[in-house]
Parts: sequence; structure tokens; C-alpha cells
Amino acid sequence: MKETKYHSYVVGELPEGCKLCVNGAKLVLFTTGICPRECFYCPLSPWRREDVSYANERPIKNVNDIIEEAKIQEALGAGVTGGDPLSRIDRTVKYIRTLKENFGKRFHIHLYTTGLLATKENLEKLYNAGLDEIRFHPDIFNPNSNIFQKEIENIKGAFDFEWDIGGEVPAVPGQEERIKWYAEFLDKQGAKFLNINELEFSETNLDALLSRGLRTVSDESSAIKGSLKSGLTILEWGEKNTSLNYHLCTAKLKDAIQLKNRLKRMAKNVARPYMEITQDGTLKFAVAEYENLMELYDLLVNDAKVPEEWLYLNLKKRRIEMPIEVAEELVDAIEGDVKFYVVEEYPTWDRIEVERIPLL
Ligand code: SF4
Repeated sequence: MKETKYHSYVVGELPEGCKLCVNGAKLVLFTTGICPRECFYCPLSPWRREDVSYANERPIKNVNDIIEEAKIQEALGAGVTGGDPLSRIDRTVKYIRTLKENFGKRFHIHLYTTGLLATKENLEKLYNAGLDEIRFHPDIFNPNSNIFQKEIENIKGAFDFEWDIGGEVPAVPGQEERIKWYAEFLDKQGAKFLNINELEFSETNLDALLSRGLRTVSDESSAIKGSLKSGLTILEWGEKNTSLNYHLCTAKLKDAIQLKNRLKRMAKNVARPYMEITQDGTLKFAVAEYENLMELYDLLVNDAKVPEEWLYLNLKKRRIEMPIEVAEELVDAIEGDVKFYVVEEYPTWDRIEVERIPLL
């Protein structure tokens, strides 16, 4: 077992789907929030549990939204997720086909599924659409359920196709034996890898995790105490007892590496000339806010003589955007109730604001 430069751990080789993901080059294609399972650790927010589709943060109205988002990200592949993407198989297949047709055969696509709906017919549809890698997340923590039995049967059927097959499960502390069971099952079937995720809490799974006695590693982290250790134990065991490849994907990898790399790829394609791209891949610029935006715009251009190309009237966000240096000069020159701020935003479709500092 070795630690990767992405703050994760690997036995053998990193799964193909993960290689592009760590570099922020995988589009996250969420084809539906519908899922036949109700895992206690499910991190999905309530509005994502509906029948909605997103390419990264961008809602999908039609396939052009997927293409547009993949171009902005300069994506080299996609991870198809949900919910269970097989709950809306025809939509999922259409999206996979669209990506392959527009970005070529080498655009690597992997997909996550519970396995419950992975009938021969559905697997065939995915395979024919060009899916490269399939990752199964069966209900291993409920081994006596009918759902789990069916999922395991379906997974066996996936070996009739020539694609990479792996497992994907969270490292739930105290459940190491179940994960080992699954690793042995995958190994016996001839799967390629098992990807284990460090368990994290989200707003939605917090109560369920707390009621099981699970806690976070610190106040600043969403990672669950004991999960990393549990994952490491499995990797050590797996290295000795199976011939699978393993990857332990940590919360730190997702936050510090994967997200940052994705933001950087996107930032250079969406930054306007007055925006700075920070080391974290966020966009930094200044904004002026005032009740009557048109009046302010007029004042900046005609009285303060700011060249129009330095200003962007953002009516949706009710502000005028500009370079930080310009705002720093204006803040002393303009009197009245105009407020100036330096803001930092994600370059994503939803443009989450991560910082706002008033200019005084
Ligand atoms: S299978 Fe995934 S999407 Fe479905 S409930 Fe479990 S964690 Fe949530």
C-alpha cells in the first residue's frame, strides 16, 4: 500500500476513472436523483433526490448543457452518478452517447450504480453506448435484504461484457468485515478494483450518522472519525489476501485536490478580463452595489470616466463588477451609499460566493 500525491491510498493501480478525477478532468454527470435504496449515509440534499439532472452544478435542460459544461471544464471524461443512473436508463444512455459522439471514443466514462437495476438488458444498453467502467455499490451492510441478493446476482452478469468492473463503498467504521466480504466476492468474480470512500457527513445524513455514534474528526472537517483507519485496515488486509486493486479516496483528496483542480480548469474559461484567478481556482474581482444600478453605471462612466470595458453590469446579481484596482480608486472618489466589495467566487455554474470583503 502506498500514499498517493493526492492524499489518498492505493494498492496496485489507481482505477482508470479515478486517474482523471483527481486531476479535476471528470465531468460529474448526475442523471437522476431517483434511487431504489435508502442508505443511512446518503449525502444527497433533498432537492437532489428528485428526478433532476445536472452536469457538475449546471441543471440539464437538454444535451447542449452537458456539452457546454464539459467544454468549460475541458473535461477528458465523465463520472455518471445519481441517485442510481439506472433508474432512468434511457436518459443515462442518451447522455453517455452524446458525450462519446461529441468528445470521441477516448473520453473515459465510468458509472456508479447500486446494481439493483443492472439487468442484462440495461447493462447491454450501457455497454453499447460506450461505457468504459462500471462501479457497483450494493447494499453490503444489509446482507439479508432481498435488494442485496438481487444486486449481487446482477453484478455477476456484468462480467459478460468487456469493460472495467469495480466496487465502490464507504468505509463505515465497524463494518470492515462486510467490506472484506465484498472485496473477496469481487476478487472471485475477476473484478479490477474496489474504491473505498472515507465517510463524510452532509446536512442530510448528519442525524443518521450521529445516532450511530459516529463523529467528525474535528470541527473543521466533515470526515468521520475512524473511517480513514477502517479503510486503511481493509487495504492492508486486501493487499495480502486478494489480487484486487484498491483505492482509498479521502475527504482531503476531494476538497484539496479534485475540487481545486476542477475549479482551475474551469476558471480560465469563464474568467472575464477584470477577474483574477486565485491559486485555488476561484475568481476574485470587485463589485459596487447601489439601489439604482443604472444611475451608478452612468455616474461611473460619465462622471468618474471609468472606461466601459472595465465595467460589467450584472443585473441578475444587482451589482457592477470591475477590477479590484478600479474599485480601490473609486471608493475614495464616490460619495453616498455606494458599497464596494472584493468578492471571491467559484467559477461554477452556480457561482457560489466564498468570500466578500468590504472596501472602506
Ligand atoms: S445508493 Fe447512493 S444515492 Fe442511493 S441512497 Fe445509497 S448513497 Fe444515496
